[in-house]
Amino acid sequence: MNDMTQRGSPVHRRSKGSGRWEGVDCLPYKEDEKARFKAISRQVLFSDPALAAELRFFEVAPGGFSSLERHQHAHAVLVLHGRGQCLIGREVRHLQPHDLVTVPPWTWHQFRAGTEEPLGFLCMVNVDRDRPQLPSDEDLANLRADPSIAAFLRDP
Ligand code: MN
Repeated sequence: MNDMTQRGSPVHRRSKGSGRWEGVDCLPYKEDEKARFKAISRQVLFSDPALAAELRFFEVAPGGFSSLERHQHAHAVLVLHGRGQCLIGREVRHLQPHDLVTVPPWTWHQFRAGTEEPLGFLCMVNVDRDRPQLPSDEDLANLRADPSIAAFLRDP
């Protein structure tokens, strides 16, 4: 093993194709009882003390979704592959490869894959960040009062 492949100093980690990389653990999220998220995996691609940001790659299986949450920190998202939808605040948007999504602080957000193919996206965050807040029943009712959001939040 040489310096280029040592896990501790990954200056170059090769793509293994289709959203996998050498030396990067793919961590499947467990599906929780309240179905806050479903069928999504997470990989930390860059987490370097020299940087104030982390870059993660999430892949949502067809029909899956990320947790509906909000927090003080922001996200910068780049869709790499697949199609789906996202909720950002009160906006529901269709996503396709190479779309860019900004999630501002304290904005409800969720990503959902379409039914045909996985949705893979990069997500940049601050290393130092607060824990996500999940919606209360009242928050959910407020969101669902909007028909387009209610349609978005329905389980497939
Ligand atoms: Mn988030």
